[in-house]
Amino acid sequence: MSMEDPDDSCPEEIPGVKEALKNNDTAGAAKRIKEYLEKQTNVSLNIAITGESGAGKSTFINAFRGIGDEDDGAAPTDFAESSKDPIPYFHPDYPNVSLWDLPGIGTPKYPADKYLRSVPFKKYDFYIIISADHLTENDVKLAKEIQRMMKKFYFVHSKTDNDINVGKKKDFTAEGTLSKIRKNCVEGLQKQGIESPQVFLVSSFEPRLYDFPLLRKTLERELDVQRDALLLDTAKINQEIIRKKKEAFQSKIKYYSTLSAGVAGVPLPGLSTAVDISMMAIVVRVCS
Ligand code: GDP
Repeated sequence: MSMEDPDDSCPEEIPGVKEALKNNDTAGAAKRIKEYLEKQTNVSLNIAITGESGAGKSTFINAFRGIGDEDDGAAPTDFAESSKDPIPYFHPDYPNVSLWDLPGIGTPKYPADKYLRSVPFKKYDFYIIISADHLTENDVKLAKEIQRMMKKFYFVHSKTDNDINVGKKKDFTAEGTLSKIRKNCVEGLQKQGIESPQVFLVSSFEPRLYDFPLLRKTLERELDVQRDALLLDTAKINQEIIRKKKEAFQSKIKYYSTLSAGVAGVPLPGLSTAVDISMMAIVVRVCS
């Protein structure tokens, strides 16, 4: 029987499939193909971490990723970094989520009036505004722009540990200090026309305290919502891409069927049929 050389005919090699088939491991081959196809339909989410320089953006990113400021791959945390360009960081538990450390607003390189145009600011799916101390004009500017773009943001009041310490010196309870800051942030944003702001009080030095755990949970839920919305959009917009993918998958099936027919010289009755059926099942599931 003449057989096409699979190495020549495969449009795009899926790692490990050929090996698995050669070893008669049809379940393994099917698993690899499934993983490959799932990866292709994954949606990535880009979260912008913005705010003034020195507000604690980089420290927040490190704390959120559960790594120390001095660890490998940590976002650099010092004021001199204020001229940096946006840099993406990945969370070990959410590989499709990128946290973008944006430059600080209101620096010589990015004065407030130029910031929104030069960063660029619009391309993100979701925003977190980091603000230390008091609500500033720049914080409000960012919040208004995000609201104008009809996107969502969380307002994160950072360095809450400092506030608690200052409060202690004045004999304020921690609860009293927290509720005062929360009120200031929420009312300050509402006065500027920001509807239902979601405010979190955090300390990146103490990520188990205050609103940090709640922020994580809320963000996880948000990511699910955003992912579903994006998948829905992608599904609507990408009918044509899906059709093309289907064609591509079909040529892959042909390729692997050819390969499995080649391996069918192997004394295992029904192997090539089993391979074809597993692949068909996957492709039908993914494409339908
Ligand atoms: P960025 O310019 O917004 O990225 O700010 P950085 O993350 O570089 O932080 C600026 C300074 O604030 C650094 O000295 C940090 O150690 C400090 N900082 C950041 N987050 C916190 C926090 O939660 N608590 C306290 N006390 N200091 C913080």
